[in-house]
Amino acid sequence: MAYNRAMEELPNGFTGFTKRDPGFTSAGEAMRRARAATELGNDETRYKESGRKAAQHGWQVPHGGIMFDGQRRPDVGRHLDPNDMKRYLRVPDVLAGETGPIFNEEALAEIPLTDRRWSWVEISLPAIRHNTLTVKRSLAPGVRLMAVVKADAYGHGAVQCARTMLNSGAEQLAVASVDEGIELRQAGIGAPILMLSEPPVSAIPLLLAHKIMPTVFTIEFAIRYAEAADQIGLRAPFHLKINTGMNRIGVRFDEVDEFLRQISFHRALDLAGTFTHFATADETDTLEVGRAKDRFLYALDTMRAAGVDPGLIHASNSAATTRFPELRYDMVRVGLSLYGYYSTPEMFGMIDLHPAMSVHARITDVKTVPLGEGVSYFFTYRSGGYAKICTVPVGYADGLRFNLSNRINFVMGGRQYPQVGNICMDQCMFEVPQRSRGTQAHLEPQIGDEVLIVGEQGDAFATIDQMADILGTSSYEICIGFGNLRMPRIYT
Ligand SMILES: *Cc1c(COP(=O)(O)O)cnc(C)c1O
Repeated sequence: MAYNRAMEELPNGFTGFTKRDPGFTSAGEAMRRARAATELGNDETRYKESGRKAAQHGWQVPHGGIMFDGQRRPDVGRHLDPNDMKRYLRVPDVLAGETGPIFNEEALAEIPLTDRRWSWVEISLPAIRHNTLTVKRSLAPGVRLMAVVKADAYGHGAVQCARTMLNSGAEQLAVASVDEGIELRQAGIGAPILMLSEPPVSAIPLLLAHKIMPTVFTIEFAIRYAEAADQIGLRAPFHLKINTGMNRIGVRFDEVDEFLRQISFHRALDLAGTFTHFATADETDTLEVGRAKDRFLYALDTMRAAGVDPGLIHASNSAATTRFPELRYDMVRVGLSLYGYYSTPEMFGMIDLHPAMSVHARITDVKTVPLGEGVSYFFTYRSGGYAKICTVPVGYADGLRFNLSNRINFVMGGRQYPQVGNICMDQCMFEVPQRSRGTQAHLEPQIGDEVLIVGEQGDAFATIDQMADILGTSSYEICIGFGNLRMPRIYT
């Protein structure tokens, strides 16, 4: 029996379906489809049928994927002939009591991550390289570049990024935790690693074992660290953190001489560097940076007056490095710029950066939604008709933040399409209008088509900076969300 949509109550603002329903099906068309469905059977029998044909042709799947409804779905079934299951099995070990089909773990592992779930993050190592070279070239000779790869390189992958950065001009690395440092060492990275904070004293053996330099700002830690190193005949190198006004961590700038006096009798301690961090380097107003700089110079002067060599002097993050060349000292600590993002609009035109991260998905469902029907939870969007609603397997658990719902575009075929409806935990929808625009024919989206959640294609783009602006947050937080590894990460 035909379903009578006219009996449904319509939402406010939709006065009726005066236009022809884009999903309209004539009675003849419906009968033809029903007949075709019985002939072909359900999906399972159709797969069996295609498998039987494949068997006759030596288990080969035609290159380019399975044919579906007469149209080629570009990537569906690229890697799997559904009937080629035997390659995923191994011979059961009958003596060990194994019976029935036993799966071959290695063969299963060969199924690519990007074909287990149709969403992934791509990191362009050439972009990381370009950014690192660009920052390095902007520094005077002799100024060292410390690449900040904390938080898994801002979601870009610490080991891969660290290697690329060290090959492109960075001399040192910075991490946030002991374990982040150990990860780099275990990957065989030998460059100096500074941990940007002071760990609990119980982590001291790990620092010494893996040659990770701590930041130091408490007397207790300095002494325990020195004693531990001395006991086994090692040195205890560290960087001293000066608090010049951010009030996060550090020895206050006017208490440095007292601090050094209290730790100075420990022979194992090596002061390898002295640094501060600006709270406002990304702000247009430069007054507070100037104040922090004066405090930092004051602390350095007291150290020198007390006969202490401060070691490598450093203060600048990405924004300060580009905006205030006079604050580069012996070394700069650069994170965000190396991943291709501008800390502040002030930096546009001052340095050429390429974003390294793009986020990709493939369409998992396409449908025409009649005028007035809702899309996704709570129907925050209702279809205007004449558009295909496409689903992609990317949601807020993957870093696509819920509050971006109905406020961003995705990119496909060099054009931008609005994301519509609330973003779900694992999926979300976007809309592809089915009217032609001027001379531009409309796009006919297919299951398996690739979509950019973040990226650029011709004039069309969807950027992390836009998302950060919409949410009133920073690109740091958006990158880290997409880099949480729920989606596999691919390096290009
Ligand atoms: C994170 C961090 C940096 C790098 O900041 P960017 O803005 O990403 O360049 C530098 N120094 C310290 C102390 C940091 O915590």
